[in-house]
Amino acid sequence: MILIMFGAPGVGKGSQAKILSEALRIPHISTGDIFRENVANRTELGRLVKVHMDNGLLVPDEMTIGLIMDRIYNADCKSGFILDGFPRTLSQVEHLGRSLKAEKRSIDTVVNITLDDAKIIGRLTGRRVCPSCNLVYHLAYNKPHNVGRCNKCSSNLVQRVDDTESTIVRRLQVYHAQTKPVLSYCRDRYVVVDVVSEDDIDDTTRNIFRSLGLAAIGTSDEGSQYMRLSNGCA
Ligand code: AMP
Repeated sequence: MILIMFGAPGVGKGSQAKILSEALRIPHISTGDIFRENVANRTELGRLVKVHMDNGLLVPDEMTIGLIMDRIYNADCKSGFILDGFPRTLSQVEHLGRSLKAEKRSIDTVVNITLDDAKIIGRLTGRRVCPSCNLVYHLAYNKPHNVGRCNKCSSNLVQRVDDTESTIVRRLQVYHAQTKPVLSYCRDRYVVVDVVSEDDIDDTTRNIFRSLGLAAIGTSDEGSQYMRLSNGCA
């Protein structure tokens, strides 16, 4: 299954992609996470992308497309993958479609998560992330068990440099100008499901699973939420 998590920054694409990735056992590929990892490891790519990211602008296509094309041809993507934060431009979605077609594959579903810009600003200013395992929290809606600490690895949570109000406003402008046209492009070619981003993450998850024809069934041995396809595929 090839899924695209689509939506403005702050709608919860990453959190939902992680849950789906675990349930469907296919990789979650986040361009933002890949770029941030490169910035943290001070790689050449990290040095080049940092200025764009810090200013809420898109990283140029020539640094983004090749990276994702290489990643999706890895063996672990054979049964599918979930893209989060890609495609964000028409050139990216066209390139992705062409590459998949050459392999006789296609995007199965685009999950479009929606939320008002005003609510997004509130969400992003309250967002905190774990710099070690990338888990995402919110000061009001998704609090960690211990204040300021990651539930999974106990690292100190941080605020992303691009989660300040002025940068968020720029990121939303970029989303409406450059990324939103990708949605119309996808509506003409692929299955797009629209899901409202609820304040309670679990409600959004339930709605996404329902839209995809999946059903939540219980808890895994590791204690994490585990879900199974209603058609018995996972
Ligand atoms: P995200 O974590 O998805 O919000 O991405 C953080 C930042 O990484 C974005 O604001 C962009 O600067 C950059 N970025 C992530 N994905 C892309 C992409 N597909 N195209 C261009 N820039 C991207």
